[in-house]
Amino acid sequence: MRPRYKIDLFSDTNCGLSQGMRHSIMNADVGNEVAGEDPTVNLLLEESCKLLGKEAAVFMPSGTMCNGIGFRALCERPGDMILLDKTAHPLHKSSGLVAGLCHAVPCPLDGERGIFTVDQVRKVLERPSGYNISVPRVLSIEQPTNFGGGAIWPLKTIQDICQLASSYGLKTHMDGARLLNAVAVTGVSARAYAEPFDCVWIDFCKTLGAPMGAVLAGSQELIDKVWYYKFQQGGGMHKAGILAAGCLYGLHYNFSKLKEVHKIARLMGTLLTQVPYITLNPDLIETNIILFKVRHPTLSAYQIENFLAQKGIRIFAVDEQTIRLMTHLDIKEEDSVTVANVFSDLMQRG
Ligand SMILES: *Cc1c(COP(=O)(O)O)cnc(C)c1O
Repeated sequence: MRPRYKIDLFSDTNCGLSQGMRHSIMNADVGNEVAGEDPTVNLLLEESCKLLGKEAAVFMPSGTMCNGIGFRALCERPGDMILLDKTAHPLHKSSGLVAGLCHAVPCPLDGERGIFTVDQVRKVLERPSGYNISVPRVLSIEQPTNFGGGAIWPLKTIQDICQLASSYGLKTHMDGARLLNAVAVTGVSARAYAEPFDCVWIDFCKTLGAPMGAVLAGSQELIDKVWYYKFQQGGGMHKAGILAAGCLYGLHYNFSKLKEVHKIARLMGTLLTQVPYITLNPDLIETNIILFKVRHPTLSAYQIENFLAQKGIRIFAVDEQTIRLMTHLDIKEEDSVTVANVFSDLMQRG
């Protein structure tokens, strides 16, 4: 059994389930999801279509499945190329799904905090084509980024990049695992962010606090294709209303709490700037993710992670010198002070 932590900043998916959430799940009306007859799933899909401005949608167990099946539905042939940032989740945290599941070739772009530019995309698309060249078929972005540190793509950049990609015949995909976090910050609607994309999905188990579940949306034609792969991958879920109820609860009751979750991230980041060997610019904390470098003479990020775990604080060492913290609904303002103090003690003692 994994120990329970006093303060769990490993991921926003490590948030506990509130009483209200549990209650909504317990009382969920259910039916047969694979036949389109689960009333709670159908309600979630209806609300998601409205939220994202798309014609059709499908309920999925996870965001990873949305990326995998989305890419499969958007690609045409094995060996097609998917353009995405070098930090993109499917490249690092999905057991090699781009190659292993979608039979596609990733083209990782060298973005800044997970955000690449129109020019970088154009350079790839202007490369000569030929029978021996993989065909660029899909362009994918994360809004907001994850391993880019929670950075938010400006709407204009999204529009320009999608327009360019579409003009070259590419399909566009938005990994919107935390799309509503971006909406909470900028006030730009989810619909506006989603508009230029053929395929878009949102997760409910991140800061919205549901136990699991994601919705992928697009045209009816895309969703018909997606259903085929969903069945093939064992994603038909039968009485899935029990999960959709949690997603609806997250959408209705937790979206309004995201601003506070972000405020605490900013506060924690600001306090951490005072800690020796940590390099962090709190102005770059836009959402609930705090990603920073720690360059201690003797301690690696992995050792710091282990030490803090013993103190009841769970963090995530991304690599030797990079740490990621995520705030969520269970993290309180005073936790920022505790975390900064424990870091500070460790850094000074070594
Ligand atoms: C969490 C996450 C995923 C995967 O979602 P799961 O629901 O955990 O499978 C994909 N992309 C991004 C950006 C994420 O943060």
